[in-house]
Amino acid sequence: MTISENLAAIRQRIALAAEESGRKASDITLVGASKMNDADACRAAIEAGIDALGENRVQEMLQKLEENAYDGAPLHFIGHLQRNKVRQVVGVASLIQSVGSTALLDEIERHAEKRGIVQDILLEVNVGGEAAKSGFAPEETFAAAQYAKTLPHIRVLGLMTVPPIASEAHGSVPYFEKVRALYVDINEKLFHNGFVYLSMGMSDDFEDAIRAGANMVRVGSAIFGARNYGSV
Ligand SMILES: *Cc1c(COP(=O)(O)O)cnc(C)c1O
Repeated sequence: MTISENLAAIRQRIALAAEESGRKASDITLVGASKMNDADACRAAIEAGIDALGENRVQEMLQKLEENAYDGAPLHFIGHLQRNKVRQVVGVASLIQSVGSTALLDEIERHAEKRGIVQDILLEVNVGGEAAKSGFAPEETFAAAQYAKTLPHIRVLGLMTVPPIASEAHGSVPYFEKVRALYVDINEKLFHNGFVYLSMGMSDDFEDAIRAGANMVRVGSAIFGARNYGSV
């Protein structure tokens, strides 16, 4: 299967899940999670009409930027972002989806101010409370959003989550529903319902995420094929 065929199949599945939740395919933004896939693969996904590409590692992103991998599509940052790399991402990624600490908010604010821009971000929720994962605990997220709102060079467009790896089919659904509830609450109480993105769902569970309210999904292997971790 080519990237373009994979994308077409995913678009169909997105359309069905969107309909099941009273929405249209065009209401769902499809982000290609292109980590470990080369510039040619990125270009093929853009050619096939992907809405955006999301990268996890700063070094890889900069390398692929030099190869013009993202020309024609918005670039998002979706991976764990170290504070000392923020400078290289602010103003480069149109949306930083993985902002999961107030220290990171402060650092993004500082560099966005320096560059004279407002950086769009999502707050990442560590919905499973996993020690190895970054993100705000669900019960911290409201306060984090309140704090982010005070930062003039940051605009919060919504929430993002990566739930714990599910051990059974549909195992992510309760987590998706929990983050959806947080999204609705914060959006209404703090942002006058101005949020834009609820980013959740990956190759194995994007339909569940859409049915639970996601309007942005991040799909990697189902578009690009299995990642070859052995080669790096
Ligand atoms: C890799 C990745 C994805 C996509 O994962 P797949 O299972 O390959 O679809 C989505 N979101 C984040 C944050 C990722 O790191």
